[in-house]
Amino acid sequence: MKKLKTFFSVLIILTLFAGLFLTSRKGGKSIEETEFLFDTVCSITVFSRSDRQAAKDAFDEAAQLHRLSDFFDEISDVSKINKADASEAVKVDESIINMIEIANKINSYSDGAFDITLAPVSVLWKFDAENPIPPTDDEISAALKTSARENIKFDKKSGTVTKAFADTKIDLGAIAKGYAADRAAKILKDAGVKSAIIDFGGNIVTIGKNPKSPDGKWRIGLQTPFAQIGEYSKILKLDEAAIATSGSYQRSFEYEGKLYHHIIDPKTGHPASQSFDSVTITAESAALADALSTAFFVLGEENGKKLVENFGANLDIL
Ligand code: ADP
Ligand code: MG
Repeated sequence: MKKLKTFFSVLIILTLFAGLFLTSRKGGKSIEETEFLFDTVCSITVFSRSDRQAAKDAFDEAAQLHRLSDFFDEISDVSKINKADASEAVKVDESIINMIEIANKINSYSDGAFDITLAPVSVLWKFDAENPIPPTDDEISAALKTSARENIKFDKKSGTVTKAFADTKIDLGAIAKGYAADRAAKILKDAGVKSAIIDFGGNIVTIGKNPKSPDGKWRIGLQTPFAQIGEYSKILKLDEAAIATSGSYQRSFEYEGKLYHHIIDPKTGHPASQSFDSVTITAESAALADALSTAFFVLGEENGKKLVENFGANLDIL
């Protein structure tokens, strides 16, 4: 049994490297601030010293969103929801309600492929354990019993979330990084930052024009699945955009010769099985791109394309 686990981002921002050569011509260095949040490396790159404070403020917001949404933190809002009894109204931060709202929308558009109430099943797969063993079918069907969008309700006016069953649990892991990247982008823009890149574990938002590139475009490399880091299958050239990737090789383990990855099909409780290894979505927000990439991975090409088109998003499959 071998555990494969990687934290590197599957979307690589190439502009920074290209930028090194352009620095003298265009002036100004790129300044990258990095923090470890959401169990992954998060970075914000700005191009002017005066933008550093805004980047710090954006990170403060991201850290707060991490604390609120962390499944494993006993005092997070998500844990408060998960520990609550049936029908107990749990007061949570507005951001948690916003994430649940987007998640529920994608759940209904994806015919249940995206489901934050899958948490009891996800934890059975123990991707972070030393030597994970796939759960049994009995364990999976027991955990699936309380999973369904209908089992989680929110009320915006009172800012509360209510569950149908005590055992219903939510995991915002497939949307929180994207949501946080959007919030960080808003803070930078409100502070007057003209150009920046936010990369929260491969959930990327680009702001303004790339000051290091003659055409002003940002270049994002799509990592070739299972290949050496830095080997790209495609380079996206983008203006202001929000991008996310879901890949079967990002977080996975091997057991008795079979690879098990972290994106679960709610219909089976097992990792979604697809003919492709990664999907990259470009959408109007990073929260949407984040959730859509996970949903696409579950749905597969045919139904996934319909879903992505519904949201006016673009996709690249590798
Ligand atoms: P990552 O978080 O590794 O970047 P994703 O954004 O695709 O990858 O989210 C995967 C995470 O979301 C899993 O680790 C798990 O916590 C949760 N998850 C797994 N399957 C689903 C699903 N079908 N719907 C919603 N969340 C899921
Ligand atoms: Mg996702």
